[in-house]
Amino acid sequence: MRYIFGPVFSRRLGLSLGVDLVPHKICSMDCLYCEVGPTTEKTVERAEYVPLSGVKAELDEFLAFKPELDFITFSGYGEPTLHSGLGELVRYLKENYPDYRLALLTNATLLYRDDVIEDVKGIDVVLPSLDAATQPTFEKLNRPVKGLMVDDVIAGIGRLIKECDCQTWVETLFVKGINDSPEEVEKLGEVIHALKPHKWQLNTVARPPAYGVEGLSYEELKGIADRVGYPNTEIVARGGVKRRKLPLPDLKEEIYNLVVRRPCPLEEISDALGVSPEEVERAVEELKREGRVKELLFGGEPYVKGLSG
Ligand code: SF4
Repeated sequence: MRYIFGPVFSRRLGLSLGVDLVPHKICSMDCLYCEVGPTTEKTVERAEYVPLSGVKAELDEFLAFKPELDFITFSGYGEPTLHSGLGELVRYLKENYPDYRLALLTNATLLYRDDVIEDVKGIDVVLPSLDAATQPTFEKLNRPVKGLMVDDVIAGIGRLIKECDCQTWVETLFVKGINDSPEEVEKLGEVIHALKPHKWQLNTVARPPAYGVEGLSYEELKGIADRVGYPNTEIVARGGVKRRKLPLPDLKEEIYNLVVRRPCPLEEISDALGVSPEEVERAVEELKREGRVKELLFGGEPYVKGLSG
């Protein structure tokens, strides 16, 4: 498969099938923290970067098995709204696979445009990024195409919230020493309170970034969340999860209830339940001995699968 990947489990979207609409690495920005690597083609030109017929064919092939998914997600390399066929693909999926919910991970740089707003109508959850509220910080951190203004990004997210029926979960990724100053946080807070997204999700650098930058601790993210005081705030950073301690029998039940619905790798179970990997491993070993779960290989990675009945 060239254009779809996964399904992968994420804390924000659950089990999601990824659809990659632009090749490595075409984007309107070149963020310091990008996990995909440096942008090689920085552009705001919309085009059919990968053939829509190929994407549809792969989706048809995969969805023919009626897999259990929480979302089909437009994400992957680069910025998905750069694909000029996004709207057509959204309509195709809604007409042919109406039971699946659609999500879009976007850097929000094109949302101020009428054609892009039309294309994202029909998507169930849109997750736009907004890392800065001032132009100098936007340019330093996100390194957008020349001439792109952060006020247009903010206006685009505003249009999304006003004109589309989707859930809007705005994500801000904090980078040490760049967008975490009291002034920037205050401005960001004002923008978030004015936009009123369904959720404001705080993240930080968790995987190797394109350029040498550092993330914030959970306590620092929590401090920002408390200062801004937006009601629907979530800290979604990987290292920011508070680990829970659960009695073994309760943990076993939670794991079983998760993997009986869909197989998951150990790491994802640990992330999803907020429990340390060691404790998850111990509970899974017991569940295996009791014959309630088994391990299977998928894409070379071990998954835990619940056995019903
Ligand atoms: S917008 Fe996303 S894909 Fe583009 S450079 Fe930034 S993090 Fe990477």
